Amino acid sequence: MGLDKIELLKELFYGFGRDPHVNKGIFDHYLNKTSDTEPWVLKKAVQELLTGCQSLPRITELLNSIKRFSPNQEYIATECPLCGKDGLIYSIFAIPPSGKKQEVYSLEQKMVKGANYKSMIIGRCKCPNGNQYEQAGHSTLSRAVEPPEYLIELSKQYGFDTAFYSDILAKKWNKKSRNIQPVDTPLKKDLSKYDKS
Ligand SMILES: [Zn+2]
Repeated sequence: MGLDKIELLKELFYGFGRDPHVNKGIFDHYLNKTSDTEPWVLKKAVQELLTGCQSLPRITELLNSIKRFSPNQEYIATECPLCGKDGLIYSIFAIPPSGKKQEVYSLEQKMVKGANYKSMIIGRCKCPNGNQYEQAGHSTLSRAVEPPEYLIELSKQYGFDTAFYSDILAKKWNKKSRNIQPVDTPLKKDLSKYDKS
């Protein structure tokens, strides 16, 4: 669903200042090694490594991270309106060009000009899908949490789970935040336009 493994790996490479085109041999190696990985699992692994590593992780580190996020094979996931099937709960953060990331708690918050809006994991879901991460030994996933209220409501309205919808919304705000005038615009102002598009 809109998750491209090549893009995810590019994000990993660029995140550590390595140009995937210049390092095409290594890049292709990483791509081959992750060919059996579900895109959403790769996404979690890339996010984890981007925040936890100082330099481009070795392929074994990437594969270990993938393993940590791969659900237990024996477990059969159930549909959940909050996490979908992954058991992971997301929230949206605004990351300004020079500054600390701020979580979006409410649609009344002002859009941050030039910020990169990103959907990030804040914990595991309280449902059985999330419970399988209880013993994962992963600091973020040890917390059972709920997404912000506005995400729950909007996702319900559009018929998505909140994990999927947070990504859509983050991308939308991301585009907007580059173009806004230096005025205070509440985040919710853009939602009506989204309804029609
Ligand atoms: Zn759930």
